Amino acid sequence: MTTEINVERGLFDEVMVPCYNPMEFIPVKGQGSRVWDQQGNEYIDFAGGIAVSCLGHCHPAMVKALTEQGNKLWHLSNVMTNEPALRLAKKLTEISFAEKVFFSNSGAEANEAALKLARRYAADEFGPEKSEIIAFKQGFHGRTFFTVTVGGQAAYSDGFGPKPGDITHLEYNNVEALRSHISDRTCAVMIEPLQGEGGIVSPTPEFIQTVRELCDKHNALLIFDEVQTGNGRTGHFFAYQGLGITPDILSTAKSLGGGFPIGAMLTTTKLAEHFKPGTHGSTYGGNPLACAVAEAVVDIISQPETLAGVLEREALFRAGLEKINAKYNLFSEVRGKGLLIGAALNEEWQGRARDILVAAGKQGLMILMAGANVVRMTPSLVIEKEEIEEGLARLDKAIASLV
Ligand SMILES: *Cc1c(COP(=O)(O)O)cnc(C)c1O
Repeated sequence: MTTEINVERGLFDEVMVPCYNPMEFIPVKGQGSRVWDQQGNEYIDFAGGIAVSCLGHCHPAMVKALTEQGNKLWHLSNVMTNEPALRLAKKLTEISFAEKVFFSNSGAEANEAALKLARRYAADEFGPEKSEIIAFKQGFHGRTFFTVTVGGQAAYSDGFGPKPGDITHLEYNNVEALRSHISDRTCAVMIEPLQGEGGIVSPTPEFIQTVRELCDKHNALLIFDEVQTGNGRTGHFFAYQGLGITPDILSTAKSLGGGFPIGAMLTTTKLAEHFKPGTHGSTYGGNPLACAVAEAVVDIISQPETLAGVLEREALFRAGLEKINAKYNLFSEVRGKGLLIGAALNEEWQGRARDILVAAGKQGLMILMAGANVVRMTPSLVIEKEEIEEGLARLDKAIASLV
C-alpha cells in the first residue's frame, strides 16, 4: 500500500480515536520557540507542548544527544542496564533529595509507580489497613485508571467500571479539612506543589507546611507530583526546593525529556527497598535514547543561569499580561510561578479560554488553557526575550479580535 495520503485536519476525524480536538493547523517544523505549519505560517510557541519543550524545538544539545545515541544503541529492556540511564539517575540524585530513581515513559506511569510504592511500603511496614490515599480536588495525576482516580476530577474517572479504592479527595489549601481527615490509616498524600491542569493554583505556605507535618505525625508518605512543575519550570530545579519542605517520593516527566517521552520516580533508599526484582517494571522505562536526551536536558536546566533566566522571563510575561489587562480588562489575576503561568479570566470573560486559544492561533501564537477560565502559558525555559514580546503582541491582537 503506497497510495499518496492527503494529510490534513480532516484525516484526524477519519482515522484517529476522537479523544482530542486538535487545532485546525498542522505544525511540521520547529526551531527554538518558533513553529511552522504545512502552509508555512509561523507561530510563536507559548504552549511548549504543555510544559514539555523546555529547551524549545530541536535544541542543538538535544539533537546531538539523540543522534549520537541513535547511532549507538536504542533499546535493551531492563534485562540489561545502560550507560545513559545510570548517568541520568546519578545526576537526578545529585540535584534532589532522592537516592534512588525508577524510570518510566510518562507522567502517569511515574505516578503509578509512586502510588504502588507507597501502598507496598505501608503494607510491609504497618499492615494492610493502612491503605488510604489522600489527594486533592482539581488535582491531575495522569490517565491510567489508578492515577485518574487519584486525580480530583470524577468526570475523568467515571464510567470505566469499578475504581481502585480507598482514595479520598479534599480541598486544596484547606488546612482544617486535611487536619480533621488524615489518620494513622493514611498511607500517602499525593499533591501537586502547584496545581497545573486544575487552573494554576499555588499552595499557601501554611498549607504545604501542614501537609508535611501531618504526614510525619501519621507515618504517611508525602508524594509530590512534579510532572508539570519539575525540571526548572518554577525557577527551582524541582518546585519543592522553593517550598521549604521535602517529599518522600517525587514523580516527574514532561520537561525531563524536553520532548522525548520519559518519566521518573525519585525516592529514598529506605523506601526503594520495598520494590524488589519483579515487584514493578517497564519494558521501555529508562531506555538509552530517552535517557541520553534527558541527560542533555538536565545538564542545561540545572545550570544556575538557566534557572535565574526563568524568573527574568516570568517578569516579562507578568509585565506584558498586565499591560494587556490594562487595555482590555479580562483577567482577574495572573497566577503561577516561573514559566507556569495562568491568567484567570474575570466574570465577564468566563468560559472563553478556548476562544482566546483559537484566536491566538489565527494570530500566529500557540497558547494553552487550564480549564475553561484560565489561559495558560508554559513556554520554553530559554525562550528569547524578543519572542516573548512578539508573542504578547500577537496575544494582544487575538484579544482585540474578540472584543
Ligand atoms: C501532565 C501531567 C501528568 C500526566 O503525565 P502524562 O505524561 O500525560 O502521563 C501527571 N501529573 C501532572 C501534574 C501533570 O501535569
